[in-house]
Amino acid sequence: MKLSSKNYESRLDTVYDAIVVGGGMGGLSAAIYLARYGLKCLVIEKGKGRSIWMQDLRNYLGIDPDAPGRDLIQHGTKQAIDWGADHLRAYVEDVKDEGDTFAVKVKVGRKDSVYPVFRSKYLIAASGVIDVLPQLEDMQNVYDYAGYTLHVCMICDGFDMWDQKAVLIAGRESQINAAFVLDWFTPYITVLTHGLFSVGDEMKQKLAERGYPLYESAIARFVGENHKMQGVELEDGTFIEATTGLINMGSIYHNHYLKGIEGLEWDGENLITNDMAQTSHDRIFALGDLKKGLNQVSVAVADGTLAATQIWRNIRRKSEPRKWLE
Ligand code: FAD
Ligand code: FAD
Repeated sequence: MKLSSKNYESRLDTVYDAIVVGGGMGGLSAAIYLARYGLKCLVIEKGKGRSIWMQDLRNYLGIDPDAPGRDLIQHGTKQAIDWGADHLRAYVEDVKDEGDTFAVKVKVGRKDSVYPVFRSKYLIAASGVIDVLPQLEDMQNVYDYAGYTLHVCMICDGFDMWDQKAVLIAGRESQINAAFVLDWFTPYITVLTHGLFSVGDEMKQKLAERGYPLYESAIARFVGENHKMQGVELEDGTFIEATTGLINMGSIYHNHYLKGIEGLEWDGENLITNDMAQTSHDRIFALGDLKKGLNQVSVAVADGTLAATQIWRNIRRKSEPRKWLE
């Protein structure tokens, strides 16, 4: 059922089998499987996730390569609800481990917000990450290109950069190392620091050896038309010709609501999971971009399948055998 500020109260006494934080690629896959195992689940999705921003999904089996992420989300949300999952548009603020259950506090509504608490036996953390973008005064100028010809994921879109003139935008020196992977797809790489840091001599030398120009001035604006880049203008007046680019400035991790929970093993900001997507906490699972591993739709979707199946196994094994009753 679709929940909202108008009807959520009917679920305040429910103990869900699982609450899924994040209705993106991994979370919806988990919800579809949970619902089809006959388990009670609630998906909580804040909106504007990473997969909504994905303009096309070119490397996923069985769909048109121009299919945007938002179509998959819309379709998957409907599918999960049709099989019996609950879905609420809200923001998960905090999770408390109460022993047998989790108390999940959410914020519903931007204005006149309410803060209900839902409960579940298991928690699936599927809230993903979001990419850091270069901050310009006119952010719309960044959004006009980011996700189209200005990419954030080399595995996803390296193919679409093949032998093109590309800018690599880094947020700190170590992120420049992406140039030495991107060169698989194109050697015509210009490195930009957006004026955020200064580059050491060793790195400068490495770039120079390959002939990759480096500019340390801030970006003024991206230039182009209809989401197609033609170049980048820097604040010092330099114009760099480039038809594509890669932003490699790191990610913001949607994991704050887990920080108070004991017994979770982290690798930096990523959760460590086993081969069934279970974290080191036996009632918390983590999927997709939030867990350590490859940030790809295919991986997130498979993680959802595994987590839901392990939760079903745990619950099923504890339940009474069903008898044929006349
Ligand atoms: P998401 O799909 O991001 O889902 C997480 C959800 O959690 C989001 O919808 C978010 O709104 C929600 N959320 C976060 N915090 C909270 C909270 N506190 N409360 C409630 N909800 C919350 N991958 C590919 O495989 N192929 C591609 O071609 C490709 N291209 C991409 C292009 C772009 C521009 C971007 C940004 C990404 C691309 N990706 C691609 C990566 C892909 O989008 C991710 O790997 C995938 O979406 C990860 O799934 P997920 O379920 O882990 O996270
Ligand atoms: P396959 O997709 O089987 O691919 C293996 C291929 O290798 C086959 O095409 C085969 O012809 C070929 N091959 C084998 N040996 C050789 C050889 N020596 N030389 C050359 N080619 C060879 N899964 C779900 O997720 N959801 C479902 O609803 C679902 N329903 C199913 C319903 C049915 C009736 C069946 C049979 C399966 C269903 N499955 C479902 C399971 C799903 O089909 C498999 O899990 C999935 O196809 C496995 O992918 P695969 O690549 O490992 O194997």
